Amino acid sequence: MAHQPSTVAFSPFPSERMSLSLIRPLFSVPTAPLVPILGRQEGFPIHRIFCVGRNYAAHAAELGNTVDRVAPFYFTKPPTGLVIEGGTIAYPPGTEDYHHEIELVIAIGAPAFRVPTDEAMKAVFGYAVGLDMTRRDLQNTMKEKQRPWDIAKAFEDSAVIGAITAAEDFEPQSQRISLVVNDAPRQEGHLNEMVWSVPEIVSHLSRYYHLTPGDLIFTGTPSGVGALQPGDRLAGAVDGLSPIAVTIGPAA
Ligand code: MN
Repeated sequence: MAHQPSTVAFSPFPSERMSLSLIRPLFSVPTAPLVPILGRQEGFPIHRIFCVGRNYAAHAAELGNTVDRVAPFYFTKPPTGLVIEGGTIAYPPGTEDYHHEIELVIAIGAPAFRVPTDEAMKAVFGYAVGLDMTRRDLQNTMKEKQRPWDIAKAFEDSAVIGAITAAEDFEPQSQRISLVVNDAPRQEGHLNEMVWSVPEIVSHLSRYYHLTPGDLIFTGTPSGVGALQPGDRLAGAVDGLSPIAVTIGPAA
């Protein structure tokens, strides 16, 4: 039987393919939320979420790890896993050891590729307070088996962020970073304890990615990480930035 010309989007015959501009989505999918920016009407759109591992020596030690100055390392989270602070986040499935990690977040506002440290700050739009939520039991299992961390780090509601403060109004120095759970202090550190500084992180990451406006970088957590329960109230802060608050929802 002779081939019947079709008008489907993905015909194997190039001459029969629809123009890509005519193709409509079959269904809609979640998108990342816009992040509020202090003093601005516009929201900050999200492209990617990078996270630095073991960037405070005291936190590395509490998990039985050491730090070095050879090179920072990274993992990522899906942009759709991001939540704006102020509400309730889901207690995730599949864990019995769901941890908080309070972090300084870098918001990239200009392209950066292979930028030296002394030029890296030009790519920084601003900063926010964030939470890198972690299924610690799954992370420990993956570490033991030398498998990827995705299931421990990249899940729904796994990243929380507060409003962004422009870099003109905040310079990371020795500001205090802290997390309080149900009015009890849990995590505390200072930004000058970071093993890798903001410009060092941006410069190093730009050797491996074309950093793009909309990229976020979670810069690691100070010591004091621990388990959360449904109903816990978290209050996170970096002195000089907009604080964050979230409540943990019921277990799935
Ligand atoms: Mn972290």
